[in-house]
Parts: sequence; structure tokens; C-alpha cells
Amino acid sequence: MTAVLPGATIGIFGGGQLGRMMTLAARTLGYHVIVLDPDAACAAGPVADRVITARLDDVAAATELARASDVVTVEIEKVGLDAMAAAAALRPVRPGAHVLRVIQDRARQKQWLAEHDFPLGPFWVARSAGELRDVLARAGANAFVKSATGGYDGRGQARAGPADDAEAVWRSLGSAPCVVEQALELESEISVMVARREGGAQATFPPALNHHVNGVLDWSVIPAPIPDTLAREGVRIACGIAERLDVVGLLAVEMFVVRGGTLVVNELAPRPHNSFHHTELASLTSQFEQGIRAVCDLPLGATDSTRPAAIANLFGDLWLHGAAPRWEQALALPGVRVHLYGKSPRPGRKMGHVGAVADSADDAVAMALDARARLRPGA
Ligand code: ATP
Ligand code: MG
Repeated sequence: MTAVLPGATIGIFGGGQLGRMMTLAARTLGYHVIVLDPDAACAAGPVADRVITARLDDVAAATELARASDVVTVEIEKVGLDAMAAAAALRPVRPGAHVLRVIQDRARQKQWLAEHDFPLGPFWVARSAGELRDVLARAGANAFVKSATGGYDGRGQARAGPADDAEAVWRSLGSAPCVVEQALELESEISVMVARREGGAQATFPPALNHHVNGVLDWSVIPAPIPDTLAREGVRIACGIAERLDVVGLLAVEMFVVRGGTLVVNELAPRPHNSFHHTELASLTSQFEQGIRAVCDLPLGATDSTRPAAIANLFGDLWLHGAAPRWEQALALPGVRVHLYGKSPRPGRKMGHVGAVADSADDAVAMALDARARLRPGA
């Protein structure tokens, strides 16, 4: 396949904040962008050439997207496989439907990883309330019960143990198949971002160190201040998965460092990832540009970090204090930047992030958190 060169049009399934930042990177490289999203007022809308307003499983809309594009990609894994197939009949779709098929169902994803000998924590799949009861009896106290489909940012999850009412947990998660995971004792969480071209050329960013609060990413820093051996092992695992899954585009691999220093894979995302937004601050190539290069079959960019960089997420709650966030307070800090996604605020909704560059990972995190704290009206 020949490269899709600047001047061409990239079609994206999904128009959320990831699509918005992909679009901005694509535009910098001189591409046109069309996004397909159910929300006419989606975050990518104002920066894209065109929005096709339709569900992500709308076959006719996917056909229209592909027809108007030279190559098609995704910013979200919940795209209908029939819609992807319709697009793939017309244009290259990267990553392909075979990747989304494995990733978009948590049970299938776990089973695929296990079958291919990638390291995982103990898990079980429950397909009925009865099965869930049996599994909870074995999975230990406070296990993570996760819907097989539809969850994100900690939603679609419950904590339960042998003493809990399995029937009630089953119903609370929509009476649909779920994955139960033993609650692991985490030393830390890291993620690895792999970009891969057709033909197999790959590039990875240094791993990021991630901090979650209530199951949602709160802050992240790159390069992760972890031993080199651990970072290398994370990169090796992630590259192995990207190759085995035959990903073209981006693959983010979330991993747990469990007590004792062992790495296990938590989950995969075939797209840009919240834990690599800091690549826009001090990496030679951002994750968004790297994804566009991979999808367009162009040489991948250098992934070196020139300095440690951190981001802290901004949630809708910040807007709900009766006064505007105090942007000048954060922007006055040298090395701090603000990224907003143009979304309307709701409690818990990811609205943007603040980023900071410093001499050490610890300083970058401290500065990003300080900047975020200063935004709060009345702070
Ligand atoms: P996101 O979309 O933000 O990645 P998600 O809804 O897909 O989140 P997970 O990544 O499965 O959810 O879990 C979110 C967080 O919950 C993890 O990053 C980790 O902090 C914690 N967590 C999840 N599973 C486990 C586990 N088995 N043991 C310990 N902690 C866990
Ligand atoms: Mg996750």
C-alpha cells in the first residue's frame, strides 16, 4: 500500500476529545479530516472539515465516511464491526476490524491475551448470575467485576466478594456478561504506547506512570520513573501484543506493576490514550501525530522525551463552583499549559487537562497538580 500523503482526507470513527486532538495533528500535517459521531456537537466538530452525525454502527454512514476519505481510522473502540467492514470494502481501515473485535469485548480481550501467553492477573468470565455467584466465591474479597462491553473511566464496574448478592451485582451491571478480576495489590500502574505501520515497523514512547482515583486516570507522567528493566519489559510485552494482534495505527497497553515488581496487562486501547497526552509537551512527536503517521503509512517520528512532562485531568466538577476556573492562575506558572476539549461541563466528565514540563518526573507531577489546584475558584 502506498502512503496517504498530506492533502488527502482522513476519516475518523468517533469525534470525542481524542478525535479532536488527532484532527489537530492531522491538520498540522496538511490533511483534511471527516469525523463520524452520534453527537453533532462533538468535541472534534469545530476543528474537523466535516462531521457525519450518525451512530458508530450505522453502515450507510460508515460507507459515506469511507467514500469521502482516503484512509479511515478510529478514536474509540466501540465501532460497529459491520460499519467497519463496510468502510473496509472501500478504503484501508486502520486499525482493522480484527483488532477492534478482540479489544471491544473485555472477555474476548482477556481470553485472547491469555491464549497468546501475555501476562495477566487471575480472571474469570461470568455469563449468568449463577456463574457470577460461583466466580465470586473463588475470586477473593473485593474483586473487580467489569462489564464485558460498554465500560470506560471506571464505569460499568463493581466491587464484590463471596458474601455479596451476586444476583444484585449482575443486575447492577445490566445483566450481561462480565469479567471478574482478582483485586491485585498494585505497586504502580504504567502504560506503553506502540505505533505500528503496515509491514511491521514499530515505535514506542517511553512508558508513562499513571495515577488513578476511583478507577479514573487522574495524572500521568513520562518517562515513568521506574527501573530500566521494568520499562524494557513493558515495552517488550506491548510490542509483542501489537505484532500478534497485527495492529496498524496505535496500541496503548495499560499494565499493572503488582507487588514484587511483576508486570501484568490490564487492558488495551487501539487509539490515542489519555496517559500519553503529555507527549504533546516534551516528546519529539506527539501520540496524535504518531498515530496519523502510522495510519497514513509514513515514517514514524522520534519518540524521545526532551524533558519529563506530566498531565493532570480536568473534570466537569471544576466548572460547577459558580465561577469560571481561574485560568490565569495556572497559566502564570512557567512550563504549564492548558488543553481544553470544548465540551460542556458535567460532574465527572473529562473536560481537558493541564500539562507541566520540569527537570524531574516528581517536579512535573507536582507542578501539574499545583496548576490544577490553582484553577479552582476560591482557591
Ligand atoms: P479507563 O477507561 O479509564 O481505562 P476502565 O473503566 O476501562 O478505565 P480499568 O482500566 O479496567 O477500567 O480499571 C480502572 C482502574 O481500576 C485501574 O487503572 C486500576 O487502578 C483499578 N483496577 C482495575 N482492575 C484492577 C484489579 N484487578 N486489581 C487492582 N486494581 C484494579
Ligand atoms: Mg483502564
